[in-house]
Amino acid sequence: MERTRRDLNEVMDELRSHGLRMTPQRRAIVAEVMRTQGHISPSTIARTVQGEMPGVNASTVYRTLTLLEQLGVLSHSHLESGAEYHRSEDAEHVHLTCGRCGKDDPLSLAEARTLQELIRRHHGFEADLTHFAITGRCEACAAEAS
Ligand SMILES: [Zn+2]
Ligand SMILES: [Zn+2]
Ligand SMILES: [Zn+2]
Repeated sequence: MERTRRDLNEVMDELRSHGLRMTPQRRAIVAEVMRTQGHISPSTIARTVQGEMPGVNASTVYRTLTLLEQLGVLSHSHLESGAEYHRSEDAEHVHLTCGRCGKDDPLSLAEARTLQELIRRHHGFEADLTHFAITGRCEACAAEAS
């Protein structure tokens, strides 16, 4: 799937075209989301925006993130620490998450292809390996445990 990286103004225009009033709070939330590299943690976004703009409700932050997902700007994955967002164009990977130290290691979909095919052989199931993390032990933690 070809996705282009939208900038802040394009995303703001899109929200407005969906009838959303762009309050200063909402603008600050969207700006912080667009500024964040890699994983976008809802609670971190809420904390940062509340630091800049006291009085922003955490539920406004969560609602805005949901809306950005509906517009296809973001997509969520479930990690060991809870749900986090990615920019949609950065979301195509499997999370290998260590349940001991919390280290998160991305596995490309190309690397995961054999696993996907193995699952498909089971009654044609099409697995979305990007949605939930695979939890276990990273190499260092596995070595310590043995
Ligand atoms: Zn990720
Ligand atoms: Zn989900
Ligand atoms: Zn570990």
